[in-house]
Amino acid sequence: MASFVSSSPPPPIYDVVVVGSGIAGLLTAEMVLTSLPNSKVLVLERNNAVGGRAQVVSPNSPFDLGGAWSWSDDRLSKLTTRLGIKKFAQPSKGSDVILQDLYGGGQRVTTHTGGQLLACGPGAERIEGGVGGIPLTLSASIQEKGGEVKLNTEVKRVKVVDGIVTLNDDVQARYVVIAAPPQLIATNVEFDPPLPSSQLSTMLATQTWMHGTGKAIIEYALPWWSVSGLNLCSTGTSRLGGHIDVTWDNSDYTNGKYAIGMFVSEGATEDNVREEIEVIFGGDGEKVKGIERVTVKVWDDVGIKGLSASTATYGSETLRMELGGRVVFSGTETEDEHGHIEGAVISGERAAKTVLAKIKGDNDKMREGGECAGDIRAPA
Ligand SMILES: Cc1cc2nc3c(=O)[nH]c(=O)nc-3n(C[C@H](O)[C@H](O)[C@H](O)COP(=O)(O)OP(=O)(O)OC[C@H]3O[C@@H](n4cnc5c(N)ncnc54)[C@H](O)[C@@H]3O)c2cc1C
Repeated sequence: MASFVSSSPPPPIYDVVVVGSGIAGLLTAEMVLTSLPNSKVLVLERNNAVGGRAQVVSPNSPFDLGGAWSWSDDRLSKLTTRLGIKKFAQPSKGSDVILQDLYGGGQRVTTHTGGQLLACGPGAERIEGGVGGIPLTLSASIQEKGGEVKLNTEVKRVKVVDGIVTLNDDVQARYVVIAAPPQLIATNVEFDPPLPSSQLSTMLATQTWMHGTGKAIIEYALPWWSVSGLNLCSTGTSRLGGHIDVTWDNSDYTNGKYAIGMFVSEGATEDNVREEIEVIFGGDGEKVKGIERVTVKVWDDVGIKGLSASTATYGSETLRMELGGRVVFSGTETEDEHGHIEGAVISGERAAKTVLAKIKGDNDKMREGGECAGDIRAPA
């Protein structure tokens, strides 16, 4: 009787698997591959696109729906320079009196001439092409270097046995970096061995930065407001029971892209944003209606609602405790950087350095023991 024996090779054991394709996770994967070009690196992402909270409307419409501005940004500047991504100062066009009479008076906002953006304050810079360009560039670089990025793959189980980490029962790695909001991970992922109770409770108590907040972008072919002398800062309609919190000029004048940006609350839709923007700027007549596109993104999928959580634990060492010396935790909430992009960059670099040091330690041990076959290193 014929017997059928499968000849397919066993699945690979990755050197590093990164969970989460936000800026933190992709930066870790890219740095590991840059230092160790022969290494096997995989990024797993539960969404159908990379970027996490760094997302633009579309490649042709580079307006940020998540993170947009940077301030004290030494590490971020070094990264954007290395990736060839330019930054520019937030536009500050307009006049002293920035709004027409709103809501029957009383809600008017004023700033100094050329006043700074209400939403982000002085000194803010933006990324040309949007912050979402950073993960896209990192992801392309990872794949050029031989790494893999797999979308639509949520990690639900992490098991550490005998120096090997198994994810979802089918992916194996020597080291794993979990680069995702702690609260989300603590709620959705089962760990074996279990996380220490202090770590689990700290993760659950850590708010995912900006969850439940949203942004809307209204695009125009031309900046009608510059003719009207408005700089687009407003307190929005939230005090009237509406969905818009504040508004600002979101344009990139150098590249001829014009938009009003705004924070919006849960329940915001394209229709109510169109209606409410007329309440705010309708004094300018028909021009406010010449909308090319409205995009609304409420970030209700980045964190778990209904838990009592705060930002006080950001950067806590407890969030960064490793599991079994094999699983490293990163992501902006693990750093003391207010949940900002900078925190994602710092945590991504920390996680890369940590796993690189561990791999180097393993290689040194193998060399001492005369076992060099599995040695991963950069070519001389
Ligand atoms: C509306 C908004 C406005 C913001 N504005 C600013 C700003 O102006 N300036 C600033 O500095 N920062 C801002 N931020 C914050 C900034 O966007 C974040 O700090 C940064 O993008 C976080 O990156 P990260 O890699 O740490 O996490 P994320 O970008 O959250 O990446 C985590 C990734 O992990 C994935 N993931 C989660 N669980 C799993 C799982 N089990 N399996 C697989 N994948 C998983 C997620 O889908 C996600 O892609 C803003 C954020 C939002 C939402």
